[in-house]
Amino acid sequence: MIAGPCSVESETQILEAARLVKEAGAQCLRGGVVKYRSSPYSGWEGLGSTDTESLKRGLALIVKAGREFGMPTVVEILDPGDVPVYEDAGVDCIQVGEPNSKNQALLNRLRTTTLPVIHKRGNSLDTEAYLLWVERMMTGGKENVILCERGIASATRYTRNTLDVGSIAAFHYQLSGLPVAVDASHGTGIRDLVHPATLAGIMAGASVVLVEAHPNPLIAKSDGFQGLFPEQLRALVRAARETWELRRRLDREYQPSAVLERGYMARMQADRERLFRS
Ligand code: PEP
Ligand code: MN
Repeated sequence: MIAGPCSVESETQILEAARLVKEAGAQCLRGGVVKYRSSPYSGWEGLGSTDTESLKRGLALIVKAGREFGMPTVVEILDPGDVPVYEDAGVDCIQVGEPNSKNQALLNRLRTTTLPVIHKRGNSLDTEAYLLWVERMMTGGKENVILCERGIASATRYTRNTLDVGSIAAFHYQLSGLPVAVDASHGTGIRDLVHPATLAGIMAGASVVLVEAHPNPLIAKSDGFQGLFPEQLRALVRAARETWELRRRLDREYQPSAVLERGYMARMQADRERLFRS
């Protein structure tokens, strides 16, 4: 479970966030230092958005918070030229955000980092097209990659995006051997829907949870409306653990068709005669 604020906002904020993530029982700390914003008028693009020095200072804050509480850190990257800055700062896992899901230059550059990468699915990328963008990053042999379903564009306007639970199942049970993360924070964009949608993602095949939580989401500088209150994160970690155990148990009942098909193929003619007399 990877949890933390949408963005790193101050030293005290990320330290408090790290404490609450740790106390909730999650394993990794997330937080963006440069934020990709869809409007130039949003006002907040992250502590590290002005220049490389500010990026280094921002990364140092989350790395310090993670280390203080014994948690690896996950931080989004925007610019391929910044990969060494993330590596040198001691970030443990790089996030490719939704808007960069098919950023060719960035994905090519990430081929050569030894850091794991969590690659979010673009919100208008078809299931298989997304996997091809993921494969772009892996063509030189990189294997430490985590898929992430964070919601796609659809007819629904009530939720921020539509969490594509069917594709989570397709990634895990059919199309890929990579671990799959569910991000129901961006997938729903509604704090009170994050808990049930995360559990649905785990049941569908996710083995990693990415979730936004904040010491006080009501004053968060980005994505506060979807950030969990500390109490909610604690409850979600407990529920996610139980859901994971349940899925592992129920997976024993999962019967892939390929195992059965051979037997049914062998009796097709006999069944045609018996069922349709033809
Ligand atoms: C985020 O993780 O804070 C984020 C901006 O996510 P996405 O790229 O999925 O919108
Ligand atoms: Mn966010």
